[in-house]
Amino acid sequence: MYDGEAIWSKVDDYFVDRLVNEDDALVAARESSARTVMPQADVSPTQGAFLSVVARIAGARRVLEFGTLAGYSTIWLARAVGPAGRVVTFEIDPATAVVAEENLRRAGVADRVELVVGPALESVRALVEASVEPFDLVFIDADKPSNPAYLEAAVALSRPGTVIIGDNVVRNGAVADPDSSDPRVHGTWGLIDMLGQDDRIEATALQTVGVKGWDGFAIGVVR
Ligand code: SAM
Repeated sequence: MYDGEAIWSKVDDYFVDRLVNEDDALVAARESSARTVMPQADVSPTQGAFLSVVARIAGARRVLEFGTLAGYSTIWLARAVGPAGRVVTFEIDPATAVVAEENLRRAGVADRVELVVGPALESVRALVEASVEPFDLVFIDADKPSNPAYLEAAVALSRPGTVIIGDNVVRNGAVADPDSSDPRVHGTWGLIDMLGQDDRIEATALQTVGVKGWDGFAIGVVR
């Protein structure tokens, strides 16, 4: 019988084996998510590498991330921006932030990452008020009900060409269930509607399968 989840994981293993260079620091960061507020909620290795490839295609030097967890995706992004680059990442849980700081140091990227502890909406509004330099790439991966507000802030902190990526937009197909009462799905609907209706952005969404099951990314670029 066709066992989707099992074969998706095998295919991920195949790609990781041949394409994804996860060093000890990345493996340690991924494994340490067990000590955070949301164990195993980090992106998968192929997805981390995907974020890195997109950041490099975009020539990103300034990255903004909503949702640090153990810093797994942060490390991929921080390596992609290079030593002169900057990643600002938001995490609400102080104990989780301690785990992330440890991982960023081990990965040798602590000097280029600013981890801001607190509610992301407050943290990002402070950046908007301070009129900071625009970001080249924004990765939205925190509490999903806030996605529309995060997208609005991301656009305010963008320039033409800024790439915006939102994670977990499929949720085992729940996004297409009009009766869903899951607030995370409602947050995704808000994000997708805004991406579709906002003339400032060109966007699409891609479904993914793999070790993290069936999910997907929304990806857009500011015109
Ligand atoms: N991006 C990470 C990765 O792939 O390695 C995974 C992030 S995890 C899905 C979501 C994170 O967002 C958790 O660490 C959680 O504590 C954080 N979070 C949840 N609500 C938040 C909020 N309001 N502000 C900031 N961070 C929040």
